Amino acid sequence: MTTISITEQTAILAKYLELPQNGKVLAEYVWIDSEGNTRSKCRTLAKKPSSVDDLPEWNFDGSSTGQAPGHDSDVYLRPVAFYPDPFRKGENIIVLTECWNNDGTPNKFNHRHECAKLMKAHSDDEVWFGLEQEYTLFDQFDNVYAWPKGGFPAPQGPYYCGVGTGKVYARDVIEAHYRAALYAGINISGINAEVMPSQWEFQVGPCEGISMGDELWMARYLLQRVAEEFGVKISFHPKPLKGDWNGAGCHTNVSTKSMRVPGGMKDIEVALSKLAKRHKEHMLLYGADNEQRLTGRHETASIDSFSSGVANRGASIRIPRQVAKEGYGYFEDRRPASNIDPYLVTGIMVETICGSIPD
Ligand code: ADP
Ligand code: MN
Ligand code: MN
Ligand code: MN
Ligand code: MN
Repeated sequence: MTTISITEQTAILAKYLELPQNGKVLAEYVWIDSEGNTRSKCRTLAKKPSSVDDLPEWNFDGSSTGQAPGHDSDVYLRPVAFYPDPFRKGENIIVLTECWNNDGTPNKFNHRHECAKLMKAHSDDEVWFGLEQEYTLFDQFDNVYAWPKGGFPAPQGPYYCGVGTGKVYARDVIEAHYRAALYAGINISGINAEVMPSQWEFQVGPCEGISMGDELWMARYLLQRVAEEFGVKISFHPKPLKGDWNGAGCHTNVSTKSMRVPGGMKDIEVALSKLAKRHKEHMLLYGADNEQRLTGRHETASIDSFSSGVANRGASIRIPRQVAKEGYGYFEDRRPASNIDPYLVTGIMVETICGSIPD
């Protein structure tokens, strides 16, 4: 038997992808599993939905994903948003869902439900978020992508926003993801190569309320799908490599309606004093293994204390120079790790800065 090349495989698949779908729509249902990974499966719809209410509830075997016991394994998938599918294109869609248990309670790993309630309760404040998702690429053998076998590249320095061979890796993967996210209607606001080679960042935002978590999860899903085609693994671990290599975060930029207008700096300061009082509670939701990253080195603050400063990348919270100059705008919470659940982080953020905190 002869094996066929990737070029030949691609040509064969192309024949089938051209076939008409007879009016049917393919809907890829995505959910978040017990480990903070996305999972998905597909079903055929008779026609294109015009709103999320047209999408049927579905279910999956939660005992295979660590989300339910074997004796009561059905977990329900409730559609909450849908996006044009950049892989299948045409009328096909990707559906973001919430996981619900058989007894009518939200699944243990469904953090969206609580978040949506908080966002609704404080919708008057029109809270905007912008998340900076950092991540690291690995090859299929779990080596950092394109690093020398059994060794290390030259120390950090030339790689951040690097240009040229040996300074930047896998630009094709990142560009493909950028285009896929735009096609899907994600409010992706930019990309850049990071300080550690084969570490990258994309930003999503500003997004208001619950849409921040939705769009970040969808952007992560798209990244995993794109990387799968290139045979590259994506890691969201906050310290993928021990030693003198930068960790990975998910800086969380935040503003309320009143912070975005002249004089807003005073509202930013009030928010920071509220955040200072709940530092420990926030850290519990700001990502597993984040203590490996928040060491006070590599552009981070220590995990043990809260701090803030203008243009200070070694503080918990940075107020951008421009914001301090103009006296209004937004602030950047630098504490969240790359592996956060954005529903938990944006949820507690709104609860803290929009709620009143007892002294
Ligand atoms: P950094 O300088 O920290 O690398 P980035 O440019 O990577 O910042 O990301 C900044 C993020 O802040 C973007 O996602 C952007 O959409 C978001 N952002 C900008 N203005 C606001 C605002 N007023 N409120 C919330 N987020 C904002
Ligand atoms: Mn089956
Ligand atoms: Mn950034
Ligand atoms: Mn960054
Ligand atoms: Mn940042």
